[in-house]
Amino acid sequence: MASLILKPDREKSLLRRHPWVFSGAVARLDGNAGIGETVDIISAKGEFLAKAAYSPNSSIRARAWGWLDTPVDADYLRAKLDTAIQRRASFAEVDAYRLIHAESDGVPGFIVDKYGDVLVIQILTAGAEYWKETIISLLIELTGIKDIYERSDVEVRKLEGLEQKTGVLRGNPPEKVEITEYEIRFIVDITNGHKTGFYLDQRENRHMVGQLAKDRDVLNCFSYTGGFSIHAMAGGAKSVMSIDSSKEALKLGVENAALNGQASSNHEWLEGDVFQELRKFRDSRRDFGMIILDPPKFAPTRSQVNKAARGYKDINLLAFKLLQPGGVLVTYSCSGGVDAPLFQKIVAGAALDASVDAQIIRKLSQGADHPVALNFPEGAYLKGLICLKA
Ligand code: SAH
Repeated sequence: MASLILKPDREKSLLRRHPWVFSGAVARLDGNAGIGETVDIISAKGEFLAKAAYSPNSSIRARAWGWLDTPVDADYLRAKLDTAIQRRASFAEVDAYRLIHAESDGVPGFIVDKYGDVLVIQILTAGAEYWKETIISLLIELTGIKDIYERSDVEVRKLEGLEQKTGVLRGNPPEKVEITEYEIRFIVDITNGHKTGFYLDQRENRHMVGQLAKDRDVLNCFSYTGGFSIHAMAGGAKSVMSIDSSKEALKLGVENAALNGQASSNHEWLEGDVFQELRKFRDSRRDFGMIILDPPKFAPTRSQVNKAARGYKDINLLAFKLLQPGGVLVTYSCSGGVDAPLFQKIVAGAALDASVDAQIIRKLSQGADHPVALNFPEGAYLKGLICLKA
């Protein structure tokens, strides 16, 4: 087996069991390893540190599969997948949830979302791609599910030297799947929707918004297919306005509303740019009792953090202005480059510049099916705050 030898004193993060080996920490590769193949990670002093997937094209040169000097093979992967699946036992009654959450489940680069009887997988890294067929067979063995679809159409694959891929992997998965989330029905477009089709990480947060929406005029910004909107309406909102830039997402949102008996005139869908639409509402002095901001990743990595901070500040400032007294702001960041303390600082700055007095009444994150391994803090990507305007 080939070995990746680290430079002196570069083993600290691996000793803390952080799974990533950056190219800057690597002295050399001893032996030959193809893309995605397993290598031993060895310190400059010659100690064994980890078994890892080799990714020669990426600045994350290797990702640890594990910390013991035991082979990485189908049995090893079966144990990892089985543990992840067992840990979701409490989701037995939940229709749609994340079954495998990559690094945080000890399977770097491999995501599996379960929508009813369909699995949608996303492969992000060379190591996960190398074991793809093995992992698919294991998933069938462990879940009994026969219909599997791939949504590996993500930019980050380029960094790993991988092409984007989508399509049926096994069985005959339908293009669209209906799921139920806290008694609300949603159609999920697994072939054309975002990510694997639905933002499963916000399940509990959508439910919570439903519970806070009663008698409020709700503005749901970055609505996608109406997740927060439909929960808000079901929770007794007076009106709901959903904004998204994607016509297809809004179209499915309208269908989802109808599916839940909400095809009423107090449910509006606006195709537009949130940054501009919020300014139009400000200029026309329109106000709302609840505003939800769930934008896409403004900063995937630390390098875009300043630009992202300006984006978050802008929309949160406008939202604070548009809120009625006693109004609720539900605001998120899913940017890896913006951590929770920074996000809170940005929102505080937005309130200050809007001359608004507000409190945090809840701090939110992703659901329990998107766990954060303690040795992998990068897994805590979703940050949310519920703020109450005075
Ligand atoms: N809250 C949603 C998920 C939001 S994902 C849910 O619970 O399902 C982010 C959404 O923002 C996507 O649907 C994307 O189309 C939309 N989007 C991205 N940039 C936008 C912009 N500038 N204005 C409006 N919508 C935007």
